[in-house]
Amino acid sequence: MYEYQKQNIVIVGAGMAGLLNAIALRKALPMAKISIYEKASELKGLGGALMLWPTGIKRLRDLGLSNIVDELDVKINYTTMYDDENKLLYKGDLNKFYEKTGDAIITVERAKLQALLLKAAQERNIDIHLNHTYVDVFESSGTGTTVTFTDNAKGKNIQVNADLVIAADGANSAIRKEKIEKDATLEYTGLCVWIGILDKGTVDFPLDQTYFQPWHNAGVWICPLNDGRQGFYAYYRMEEKDFKPVEQGKKLAQLKELYNDKLNEQSPFNAKILNAPENEHTYAGPTYEVKGLTTWISAGGRILLTGDAAHATSPTHGYNTSSAADDAYVLMESIKHHQGNILAAVKDYERVRKPVAEKFLAQEANDRNVVFTGDKTFAMQRNQVIKTLDPNDPFSEWRVLILDNSMEKQLAELKQPTVVNNNNLMKNKK
Ligand SMILES: Cc1cc2nc3c(=O)[nH]c(=O)nc-3n(C[C@H](O)[C@H](O)[C@H](O)COP(=O)(O)OP(=O)(O)OC[C@H]3O[C@@H](n4cnc5c(N)ncnc54)[C@H](O)[C@@H]3O)c2cc1C
Repeated sequence: MYEYQKQNIVIVGAGMAGLLNAIALRKALPMAKISIYEKASELKGLGGALMLWPTGIKRLRDLGLSNIVDELDVKINYTTMYDDENKLLYKGDLNKFYEKTGDAIITVERAKLQALLLKAAQERNIDIHLNHTYVDVFESSGTGTTVTFTDNAKGKNIQVNADLVIAADGANSAIRKEKIEKDATLEYTGLCVWIGILDKGTVDFPLDQTYFQPWHNAGVWICPLNDGRQGFYAYYRMEEKDFKPVEQGKKLAQLKELYNDKLNEQSPFNAKILNAPENEHTYAGPTYEVKGLTTWISAGGRILLTGDAAHATSPTHGYNTSSAADDAYVLMESIKHHQGNILAAVKDYERVRKPVAEKFLAQEANDRNVVFTGDKTFAMQRNQVIKTLDPNDPFSEWRVLILDNSMEKQLAELKQPTVVNNNNLMKNKK
């Protein structure tokens, strides 16, 4: 066995990025010690629905998680968009898009995906430490890192040594601020979201379709889940300071106040969503984007950013989880390619992933401002333009654009075997 197979990897955060990276690293390093530390004391249903794009699904399959894809499966055949008077602007047939991508778009309850990934991680011998909050990390490129966590249950700090630290601690990443880019800004996207799950029958809309009704400053999106319930997203363009933290049981009430009742008339669903019983899965808050990072790697090269910590953006396209899956996959390929050389693998991970993720961030910001423009006249003109597009699939070109497979060339290079220096092999051999 080579020493590199026994690396010690610490992941901070058990969101989708943390769990996906753990599973990917297990594939690349079967003998490594891989541990996740998460500040939450339990991983129970927070949030609403998530979207997985075909690229994200492909990555899940590549990570050996086809069983999870099968379990989540809900096929969305049509995507619809309505104008401010709730007249249909288009009903796009996604099957044409799927012919190009192989896999379909899946919408899934965040809590369910997290539970399935957690189980998959545990089955792969990954240690999960809940109720542990990251405190700091000391890095020496020569000998590795030492990470300090607070064990919240015991109220004391523990220290853990690691060859590699993966910062999957979300958009507000403490590790990014302290160890990678002190001056990086977390910018408010201009949008607050109210996300939740509706009980079966709350909204009468076909379960193979998504519904989207954007106004100029707000909007509602509804998607099916595979148990007959539906996820909803309500977006509101507003000043960040006007969002007041809301308690469980009051989130929809706040949305109702903002939508100011008169907007209810514009969709048959808004009143139903606003009057639905608040359930424990409802989430509300401002959304942020992580902008202008010059690097995703620490000075010593042993701490890297992944998921929202590296490239958070608004959920307008619902691509954040698919992006996290892209990160995990590229890291896995890079580590396999660089057998045992963590520092080289981390550099290649950044080289391949960062430009692609940044291109998407720019696209997302642009589209967000077209969708939630804040300008009523512009929104009406936009809707007129949409009416002139192909009613069967008005956004086919755009979809291909956001699924731009520009990583394929670099990935093909990564999949070539590295020429390993025989002396190193001998050194590494047990
Ligand atoms: C509670 C919650 C609900 C969400 N709901 C939705 C939703 O309904 N729809 C949607 O599209 N997106 C939702 N998101 C965002 C979505 O999960 C992410 O955009 C995407 O999956 C990428 O995930 P991530 O793992 O990078 O980040 P996150 O999902 O934010 O996960 C980061 C994890 O790191 C942990 N963490 C943070 N700081 C520390 C620390 N100091 N020490 C230890 N652990 C730490 C957090 O507790 C969290 O579990 C939600 C995120 C959260 C945290």
